[in-house]
Amino acid sequence: MANTATATRHVTEQFDAVVIGAGFGGMYALHTLREQGLNVRAYDEASGVGGTWYWNRYPGARVDYPGGPFYCYTFSEDLIKEFDWPEKQPDQPTVLRYLNFVADRLDLRGDIELETRITGAVFDEAAQRWEIETSKGTHVRAQFLVCAVGALSATHIPPIPGVDSFKGERYHTGRWPNDKKVVFKGKRVGIIGTGSSGIQSTPVVARDAAHLTVFQRTPQYTVPAGNCPTDQALVAEARADWSKFRHIMLTTPIGAPDVPTTVRACEHTPEQRRDTYEAAWRKGGLGPILVTTYCDILTDKQSNDWLAEFVRDKIRSAVQNPEIARKLLPSYLIATKRQVMDEGYYETFNRDNVNLVDLREDPIIEITADGVRTQSGHHWLDMLIFATGFDAITGALQKINPRGRSGVPLTERWAARFNSYLGVTIPNMPNLFMIHGPESPCVLFNMPLGAELQGDWIRECILHLRKHGIGSIEPAPGVDLAWAKEVEEVANLSLFPRTESWYTGSNIAGKHRQFAVHLGGPAYFARLREVAERGYEGFITEPERSVAAA
Ligand code: NAP
Repeated sequence: MANTATATRHVTEQFDAVVIGAGFGGMYALHTLREQGLNVRAYDEASGVGGTWYWNRYPGARVDYPGGPFYCYTFSEDLIKEFDWPEKQPDQPTVLRYLNFVADRLDLRGDIELETRITGAVFDEAAQRWEIETSKGTHVRAQFLVCAVGALSATHIPPIPGVDSFKGERYHTGRWPNDKKVVFKGKRVGIIGTGSSGIQSTPVVARDAAHLTVFQRTPQYTVPAGNCPTDQALVAEARADWSKFRHIMLTTPIGAPDVPTTVRACEHTPEQRRDTYEAAWRKGGLGPILVTTYCDILTDKQSNDWLAEFVRDKIRSAVQNPEIARKLLPSYLIATKRQVMDEGYYETFNRDNVNLVDLREDPIIEITADGVRTQSGHHWLDMLIFATGFDAITGALQKINPRGRSGVPLTERWAARFNSYLGVTIPNMPNLFMIHGPESPCVLFNMPLGAELQGDWIRECILHLRKHGIGSIEPAPGVDLAWAKEVEEVANLSLFPRTESWYTGSNIAGKHRQFAVHLGGPAYFARLREVAERGYEGFITEPERSVAAA
């Protein structure tokens, strides 16, 4: 049955494309589609551009990827030359300043409507258009809906008993306030969660707070950030020959400038391995330890165990109290949860004003008006920080819950599997595109670069449709299953699926387990190009109705 549910509503504006989100992905999609003469409007709930980097302004937030001129837009040499990154791992204010610089430089602001949430979207099958509603009560229509909603934007607060009863200051790291300075001085602060956000904020909060209690469920491996002023010689080299650097990033597994090694850990003696790990540890950052030490860390259990034990030794030597060190020792396969880097995390537990609660031994019973009650007693707090993560990869789009063919909502389509084709489109959701969607490399590839490559693919697809008088495009029946098999096969070559993590959805109660990341890196982007070159193989289309009628 054709879905014309919105025909009676008053459409205020019409666009070729509506982009949801004004972070790295949304800003690029707006720019690149607009460059082709399309009439585009982007919407974002925040009061500024930046997406993830707008919201995650918690203390200590900084890029944990090879930063500087590598965690940014790569398509424009001018942008590369005009923005100076002061540090190797830029902090959140710098990344936000960069994204504001880009918004001005590309003159994007006029086409971005801020403080406006998309509250619903319905595909009108007869008109081949998306009918989109906003939190401001406006109702717009667009042929294409580009969802750049962020893989890590739907914040998660776990349903701990009494979670809403806390009367002190309460924050989530992923929704840190932008309108006030949060003061820790003189306060008893609690942080629940020891993922990237908890680990980055712990040392900073500990420096100022009267007392900090860290509530840890799963200990994490973290490696030193090795942050330092930007290497100006490297920047000069990159600016002088940007295409060379971009090419390296386009060909490495995670889109990083670190050239991967081909050496397997078993090829070295224990002493050689220790020296190799040590050198990477001293250098700091994720690339050196994960990409340049041994090529089989994420594919071979023995190689993984050797590196894990090296890091556990580092924890034992960093933490003075052996009992606390014991509680901090992780046991899962290293790097199969999102690998974290830090600035003095383990050493923070040597401070007199910090204590660690190991929730495996001493679980939370409830959150009270004044703190957190665990099995062993009550922890009195003035401030509680939830560093408890996100309904990752799929949560933000499910919140919008677009309705595609026959008016069926996405949550229903995704009830059993987060199915997609190429991680960019969804069956029965014509003319809907995702940036950093499930079954794409999203969080395991340089995210700005990945957004650009997917944005380019979406732009070329739309231009193809326009050129050929096509009104709608969507995956053909069954191609999603073949795609899921491909994603699964690549994942199963690695150790990733063996660990419960937000990659598999297991951090959210009731979410079905699915390793929703395509690990192919450059091979994935080659597949995207291949599909396009074969005339959008695997898609079905309908002619533009007005063209067909003419
Ligand atoms: P996260 O990695 O999902 O960590 C959430 C933490 O909360 C985990 O330690 C988790 O424990 C804990 N937790 C969840 N529910 C709990 C409960 N009921 N009781 C106690 N503890 C609970 O979230 P995140 O730290 O915000 O990081 C998410 C992702 O965002 C990162 O992995 C990274 O990709 C990205 N990120 C990037 C940066 C950066 O680039 N600088 C910074 C921050 C975040 P369990 O492990 O036991 O589930």
